[in-house]
Amino acid sequence: MTARLLDGVALAATTLEAVADGVAEYTASNGRRPCLATVLVGDDPSSHVYVRMKVNRSRKVGIESRRFDLPESTTTDELLSVLGRLSADPTVDGILLQHPVPAHIDERAAFEAIDPRKDVDGVTRTSFAQMAFGEPGFRSATPGGIMRLLDAFDVPLAGASAVVVGRSPILGRPVGMLLLAADATVTLCHSKTRALADEVRRADIVIAAVGRAEFIRGAWIKPGAVVIDAGYNEGNVGDVEFDAAAERASLITPVPGGVGPMTIAVLLDQTLHAARHSAGLDG
Ligand code: NAP
Repeated sequence: MTARLLDGVALAATTLEAVADGVAEYTASNGRRPCLATVLVGDDPSSHVYVRMKVNRSRKVGIESRRFDLPESTTTDELLSVLGRLSADPTVDGILLQHPVPAHIDERAAFEAIDPRKDVDGVTRTSFAQMAFGEPGFRSATPGGIMRLLDAFDVPLAGASAVVVGRSPILGRPVGMLLLAADATVTLCHSKTRALADEVRRADIVIAAVGRAEFIRGAWIKPGAVVIDAGYNEGNVGDVEFDAAAERASLITPVPGGVGPMTIAVLLDQTLHAARHSAGLDG
């Protein structure tokens, strides 16, 4: 392997140490801990694992976690009412609605029921617009984590050709907007893209956000490119054919241990910011 690893575990640990310090300071001066409400609908086993990891990490850094597990049969209206209550509750600083919700629920309507000031997972239209315009605001957690990794490893973005494979509202699209705001030349690819391999071959930076194991072949990677694999598939496998890609890339994220830990770090960092902001501190 010739590529260097973009170590998300180490960067997340450093980020979370700073969050824990900030949380201790906030708690000492405000008489309560920052609070993250997590809402999980249904029985998806992976979602349960993700929520448990987020709750555990919250506790480790001193953030209060309130967990709302709703049954699979929850209607859109019922979910909107829970999110509306949490949005209005002054003791809740951040709200995470675990994605995906069951298919019968209108996920966009649910995301929009989150007060943008508590949108610490960066899923509302308000947060998307801020990312698209390059304005301050909450970042979608995984895209925010990807940008922090690129920054920490000094990857030059201005003028670079960035190819994002995937255009989901929580991952591909927002990371595309953040890269564009950072002056990369961005191509967003999706299931209708023709000649995907050729698009990837031109990329200085490849962001894989497809959800298919080893879908991006190592041979497609331009020598020296930076490869970020946000995919997480059964068997701990990413969306990139890791071994072959690591022979060509200059930098590559491991799976697991790359993007995943940074997603949680951004979520908790943004929860601290939301709490500070609502307390009239600098955010
Ligand atoms: P998603 O909503 O299913 O979106 C997948 C995207 O891939 C869609 O835009 C789809 O295109 C595109 N796609 C599907 N088949 C394709 C093909 N043959 N060629 C090109 N593009 C294709 O998934 P997601 O929620 O964005 O998640 C993507 C991956 O990231 C998953 O493995 C997920 O587990 C992982 N993930 C990781 C984290 C983390 O914290 N590390 C967080 C979220 C997600 P269309 O739009 O045309 O359908």
